[in-house]
Amino acid sequence: MIIAVDGPLASGKGTIARALAAHFKLPYLDTGSLYRATGVAVIDAGIDPTDEAACARAARTLDLATIDEARIRTAEAGAMASRVAALPAVREALYELQRDFATRPGGAILDGRDIGTVICPDADVKLYITADTETRARRRWSELKAGGETISLEDMLAQTRERDLRDAERADAPMRPAEDATLLDTSSLSIDAAVTEAVAIVEKRQKA
Ligand code: C5P
Repeated sequence: MIIAVDGPLASGKGTIARALAAHFKLPYLDTGSLYRATGVAVIDAGIDPTDEAACARAARTLDLATIDEARIRTAEAGAMASRVAALPAVREALYELQRDFATRPGGAILDGRDIGTVICPDADVKLYITADTETRARRRWSELKAGGETISLEDMLAQTRERDLRDAERADAPMRPAEDATLLDTSSLSIDAAVTEAVAIVEKRQKA
């Protein structure tokens, strides 16, 4: 079984995908971490983020074993991830790794922006997780604050809007629900309620 989970920043897709992976005993890939790690590599090597070939080289030569989890979760890494993710050569460089993960025997669950539309258009179950912009900005702001980053809620809201726009309007693999995706709005749901709902959607699809 392949499960594709897409959605915008702080929609809850990562939490839901991890919980589904545990529930259905499937390996899980957070594809955003690949773009974030590429963003960090671009920053650290002083690469011009508009230099598509150099950014793609950074993506191709990523060493997944040495990804600094704390560093890729910063607001700076997220913002650069969304810039490099708009470059087709970067997406191409990360395509095979994601496809290989998705097609391993026994199934897999992946979350991101284009899993149901580009990486796994043939997924057995597709979920598109949403929440209103203010709720998502507040969630990410709390996470960053807990991690020691100081950012105002107002700036976080502006960054969330900017990131949504860039991810949704890029020409290559824009963020959007696949036609056969089930939408799940987590704005007013607790984590437990959102996970319960997601498990029910997957089980219903499995039966169908
Ligand atoms: O999901 P996360 O916030 O970690 O993703 C960081 C950025 O990586 C997103 O804003 C998006 O630009 C990019 N991304 C993408 N396609 C994916 C996963 C992430 O373009 N499948």
